[in-house]
Amino acid sequence: MHLGAFDHATAAFGLATTGGIVSSTGIAGLTLGGGLGFLTRRCGLACDNLLSADVVTADGRYLTCDAEREPEPELFWALRGGGGNCGGVTSLEYRLHPVPDVLGVLTVFPLDGDVLRGYADLIAAAPVELGALLAVALGPPVPFLPERRHDRPVAVVLSCWSGSPDRDDDVLARLQALGPVLDRQLGRMPYPVVNTFFDATLPAGLHHYWKGLFAADLTDGAIAAHLDHGAATPTLQTATLVFPIDGACHDVAADATAFAYRDARFAIGLGPSWTDPADSAAHIAWGRAYHEALLPHSMDGGHVNFAAAEDAGRVQADYRGNYARLLAAKRRYDPENLFRLNHIVVP
Ligand SMILES: Cc1cc2nc3c(=O)[nH]c(=O)nc-3n(C[C@H](O)[C@H](O)[C@H](O)COP(=O)(O)OP(=O)(O)OC[C@H]3O[C@@H](n4cnc5c(N)ncnc54)[C@H](O)[C@@H]3O)c2cc1C
Repeated sequence: MHLGAFDHATAAFGLATTGGIVSSTGIAGLTLGGGLGFLTRRCGLACDNLLSADVVTADGRYLTCDAEREPEPELFWALRGGGGNCGGVTSLEYRLHPVPDVLGVLTVFPLDGDVLRGYADLIAAAPVELGALLAVALGPPVPFLPERRHDRPVAVVLSCWSGSPDRDDDVLARLQALGPVLDRQLGRMPYPVVNTFFDATLPAGLHHYWKGLFAADLTDGAIAAHLDHGAATPTLQTATLVFPIDGACHDVAADATAFAYRDARFAIGLGPSWTDPADSAAHIAWGRAYHEALLPHSMDGGHVNFAAAEDAGRVQADYRGNYARLLAAKRRYDPENLFRLNHIVVP
């Protein structure tokens, strides 16, 4: 099932839970890896909202697991952030939150250090109902953006305010204060609509080469790397995304689920997206250089949802203090490594 269908079904009841920001993304892989989106600060990761799952294990057992049910509490622990390592999930049950219409705002700024610094300060001070992502990208050739900004590097703050409409003006003022606004699109809209902002840019069939990072802060060094490499963003489909993961994500203990980075304030998903396979080598080289430049300003691991295939060697860092427990779960539920088309914990 893709996120758009899920959002659509729950929005009919004024309810939602954390999902990703592109409606065509599959909810199973997204949730099992952790799952970041506009509601992360308010509602936690997608996996924090998982109440139970039906799973087919490598030995052919069909189990329903949740936080309480014996004999498989370890399986449920491992599913929440541990990816598809321990079984094939056939059904997911989620906790839903009241999310009536939201204020969706897309604000385009020049790619500028003060804007990026201001964004980090905004997140530190804003209520958790503000899910605001930073995207370093190229200005899309849309009529409402000045033509001289088309194809030029910009910083876009994509915001979803799910708090009281009485505070819309306050939210808009905070966003406006980040720097010179090149363009702004906004409106009150059903929550599922904010998860379609990127849909037209990221249709199925693109090539992607993504890498994940966690960061405790957006330091001057990280900002310099974003300015430097963001300025050379190679395609209109490419966006370097900074997701805030404080708020409710920090309310969960680091060992409560397999997702280990509860002290990170930002998760970064970066890398090129492109159409022509002939361009692969150049685009991948750009993604690698950007990633390398951010590494000294990041924590050890990254979010597995944004891990490239070649990052398998970093899996221990991605799970940090939870790695040993995840490895034990892998050995218990999939000792022969049947489920290996993922960020594998090798049993
Ligand atoms: C356009 C786009 C936008 C994205 N945006 C976000 C975002 O905003 N936030 C975010 O957190 N991530 C995002 N992602 C990353 C996304 O979470 C991962 O790519 C995720 O794996 C997608 O889930 P899927 O169900 O489509 O997985 P697939 O691509 O179908 O599978 C990938 C892996 O996920 C696991 N998996 C999938 N389904 C199951 C299942 N039923 N049972 C067990 N394991 C399973 C398997 O290990 C599988 O190999 C995005 C990806 C894309 C392509």
